[in-house]
Amino acid sequence: MEFKIALIRGDGIGPEVVNGAVTVIDKVAEKFGHKITYVDVDMGGNATDKYGVSYPAGTAEKCKACDAVLLGAVGGPKWGPDKPAEQRPETALLAIRKDLGLFANLRHATLRPALIDACPLKDEIAQKGIDIMMVRELIGGVYFGKRDRYETADCGVECTDLMAYSEMEIERVGRQAFELAMKRRKKVTSVDKANVLETSRLWRSVMHRLAQEYPEVEYEDYLVDNTAMQLVRDPSQFDVVVTENMFGDILSDEASMITGSLGMLPSASIGAQAPGLYEPIHGSAPDIAGQDKANPIATILSVAMMFKYSFNLPEEASAIEQAVDAVLAEGWHTPDIAGQGEPVGTKRMSALICEHI
Ligand code: NAD
Repeated sequence: MEFKIALIRGDGIGPEVVNGAVTVIDKVAEKFGHKITYVDVDMGGNATDKYGVSYPAGTAEKCKACDAVLLGAVGGPKWGPDKPAEQRPETALLAIRKDLGLFANLRHATLRPALIDACPLKDEIAQKGIDIMMVRELIGGVYFGKRDRYETADCGVECTDLMAYSEMEIERVGRQAFELAMKRRKKVTSVDKANVLETSRLWRSVMHRLAQEYPEVEYEDYLVDNTAMQLVRDPSQFDVVVTENMFGDILSDEASMITGSLGMLPSASIGAQAPGLYEPIHGSAPDIAGQDKANPIATILSVAMMFKYSFNLPEEASAIEQAVDAVLAEGWHTPDIAGQGEPVGTKRMSALICEHI
């Protein structure tokens, strides 16, 4: 098969981890007989340096002409919060999600067998395993709602951030969660705050309607505060967890943390139409940029998600995941994770994973 991938290498360690992932894509293409072409897209701080804006005109169009987008990471102290919005890399991130209609963010939080010691939870909890697909609504809710700031008569300044959700927005992300569960362990946990919020009550009623369409899927409602607690008490109980934007932002970081290293976790952002956007959950790590120290595994596992969800090629995805596990089981490691012997760099780790495919 033939695929075109947009590469947003980005800033800091972004180009290093994307380069590593591209060697893996090429290896998979060679082994399984696919033809892959790449289109380079400038976005983030490097685009600000080149064009004066972090999200140059035509960025979304270039990505839309591809089958999938691979993003390293954007940002860094050079383009900090004191800069105008159009020069800040974070502006570009929000814009591309919105322009590509990426309403569902999937974070796969797994504890890889070779790294069980990196789990900060008690051994008896870690031994039960962690394999959670966190599905976060990405382009609605309070992060995109109307904001206001005004003077009150006797309490100083007051601000509001509006949280709004429509049935359509809830249903499309909910359906994504149920479809994912059908391909996994067939369990969906929907997270809300229905004891307080009206948006959560609507969320829950739409999820219940969807649950009836998927009778094979075990369904449960959890309140967000309880979920935060359950994630550290017994994360093995979760399969697919679906929630709105802000709750998902917080819970997906918690889910990531309990698996040990930021350098290990992939994510996918999916919309109704191609292309999906695949990226590691970590940032641009300016402290180690350009030193061949970055762990490329999160980006390489994001490529596995790309093969599975955008190209519908699960066998290729499994080949990547198994190669990662095999390399880790042999004790190879980058400086951020535990292993045996001297750590290896980004390039060597990528090459080892290619050798195991
Ligand atoms: P970060 O994830 O970049 O780094 C946090 C710590 O983890 C650092 O010590 C870093 O060295 C380490 N780390 C991260 N990724 C690693 C990897 N692959 N291998 C080894 N170690 C790794 O988070 P931060 O320091 O808060 O943010 C740095 C910049 O990245 C900021 O400008 C931030 O806005 C940006 N950022 C971008 C994205 C994105 O592009 N999606 C996401 C988060 C942060």
